Amino acid sequence: MNDTLQSWLKGELQSLRDQNLYKVPRILNSPAGGRVQMDGREVINLSSNNYLGLANDPRVRQAAEEAIERWGVGAGAVRWIGGTMEVHDELERKLAEFKHVDSVLVFTGGFTANSGCIPAVVTKDDVIISDELNHASIIDGVRLSAASYKKSDGWVYAHKDMDALEDCLKRAQGFKKRMIITDGVFSMDGDIAPLPEIVALAEQYDAFVMVDDAHASGVLGKNGAGTASHFGLYGRVDIQLGTLSKALGVIGGYIAGSHELKDWLINRGRPYLFSTAHPPMVAAALIKALEIMQTDPTPMERLWANARRWKAMLNEAGFDTMGSETPITPVYVGDEGAAQRMERMLWDEGVYALAIVYPTVGLGKARIRTMPNATHTEEDLDQALKAFVKVRDQLGAVR
Ligand SMILES: *Cc1c(COP(=O)(O)O)cnc(C)c1O
Repeated sequence: MNDTLQSWLKGELQSLRDQNLYKVPRILNSPAGGRVQMDGREVINLSSNNYLGLANDPRVRQAAEEAIERWGVGAGAVRWIGGTMEVHDELERKLAEFKHVDSVLVFTGGFTANSGCIPAVVTKDDVIISDELNHASIIDGVRLSAASYKKSDGWVYAHKDMDALEDCLKRAQGFKKRMIITDGVFSMDGDIAPLPEIVALAEQYDAFVMVDDAHASGVLGKNGAGTASHFGLYGRVDIQLGTLSKALGVIGGYIAGSHELKDWLINRGRPYLFSTAHPPMVAAALIKALEIMQTDPTPMERLWANARRWKAMLNEAGFDTMGSETPITPVYVGDEGAAQRMERMLWDEGVYALAIVYPTVGLGKARIRTMPNATHTEEDLDQALKAFVKVRDQLGAVR
């Protein structure tokens, strides 16, 4: 062990603890669901992206088991070296149909889809214009690129501020290509990007648009097809990213767009070129999950019924849900310490929901982030609300 490294690690970890930013994941002792066993006790889980309950759906489990029998457990290699298994190909064709696009390329995660796609589609002659609240994986993808993108150079616009975006586009006319990139649904606030306005500006100023629909996949649009579908913008969003890890319940990410985009990423998308494909059971489980999304409206209806009810219950009890328009429901606290105390007190009341504090969100904008999903019962949400009210009354600090 190198002493210099070890003492640096210890110092950095201590500094995280001092700032209350040190994370220790809890241990889940059961499958994902609305009620789970966690750290040895039963809690209502308001902190999962398993929107539709597909992570433990018997039909999806069975598809994965059958695929193990048929294909084994590993893909063996990177796809262009080892060959693409039929199941991977079938998943991409079905996703392309679902998204109303020419082609889809699957990556092993949404994060790698961002870091594979973004740097591949721009060069040093181009500029990337970003919403200030974009997800960390977008930011990392942007940083890997050779394009201009820096906030200090004026290429990051205030959250959903279309005047600021237009100003960026006007200043960007000297670049060869202009790329606008935004979350479709913002992961910490649960609000929706003004995609029709973004697309209109892009068309006016000769820019192309990439939207990261990680939290819109399975949640917004026809059968959960995402924000382009939600706003009726088929054919006008150049690059759509979807995740297969959240509502679809398994793992993976994909880029949806033109045939040429897919061909280019097969040749220049580094996580595709240099990282092994998903196990075939993942692709088979995803084909089944996608089929359920397209043929059984019940999980999405339950998701939205629970999301609307949960927000209404919170608002009626006097909580501020910060303008959320989707199942992602932040409960405003403000003070960082109060939010962290609230998280611990909720846990003691049998509710698992995390405090989100600076620097993940702005200073003084701490919140408890809650995620109702299709698997919660009315009783789960009633019990969770009681816990929120009780804890707020004890803390006295939440508005
Ligand atoms: C979760 C998330 C990702 C990463 O997706 P994974 O499939 O979990 O890697 C990317 N972008 C956004 C906006 C996300 O919320």
